[in-house]
Amino acid sequence: MGKVYLTGAGPGDTELLTLKAARVIKEADVIIYDRLANPDILQMAKDGCRFVYVGKEDGKHILPQDEINEVIYKMALENDVVVRLKGGDPFVFGRGGEEGLYLRERGIDFEVIPGITSAISVPAYAGIPVTHRGISVGFRVITGHEAPNKEFSQIPWQNFKTDDTIVFLMGLHNLKDIAKKLIEIGKPKDFPVAVISKGTTPKQKVVTGTLEDIYERAKDLETPALIVVGKVVELKEQLEWFEN
Ligand code: SAH
Repeated sequence: MGKVYLTGAGPGDTELLTLKAARVIKEADVIIYDRLANPDILQMAKDGCRFVYVGKEDGKHILPQDEINEVIYKMALENDVVVRLKGGDPFVFGRGGEEGLYLRERGIDFEVIPGITSAISVPAYAGIPVTHRGISVGFRVITGHEAPNKEFSQIPWQNFKTDDTIVFLMGLHNLKDIAKKLIEIGKPKDFPVAVISKGTTPKQKVVTGTLEDIYERAKDLETPALIVVGKVVELKEQLEWFEN
């Protein structure tokens, strides 16, 4: 029986891969990867390494999660080094926890190799620090996947009245409703928002605006994209570096 490495690939820029991730990718007999993991990383693999694509296309899974779990398990029965490569960090909306539980139940050994999550690095490449002295004392990373107008929401919308930075992942298609909901709970209409598409890559696009106009401004952006809500967005003008 082999060992599975639940490995973070970082947000896009291949140089944001950790040394540990690079090591196991070079040793891998099989790499099971997602759409969000930059495919350039696969070129680091040794000759004869097998690649298995189980990614998502715009929210639609090619394979349902339980089948992905089973693929990883089967690969671990037949190979020594199995790398499960995921965009960003495997435990930040990466379902790495579910995969770990599945393997543990079946007695398969695994390690987690954290990755640089898009939640922090993508804003950073746009010149937006998620915390800043005097402006934001903390940040939250929230799923934007759940429709904000859902009757029974798991998301504590009422807690978002504070000025902490909020980073929504998987929220581009709900952008209009997320902005509306935040205005409804009492945030000012002119509260700053940024939407960043394909962050840390040469195709990075950043659109800034307010809760009131961000949808109109950002509606042509492509996935993957994340939403940053907070006064830290205003620092972009001075801290922007990547696009320069
Ligand atoms: N585990 C990943 C997140 C997976 S959820 C991580 O830690 O980064 C997928 C969401 O991540 C996307 O919908 C998008 O909101 C965000 N995302 C990932 N890569 C991104 C990128 N390069 N630019 C902008 N958003 C990105």
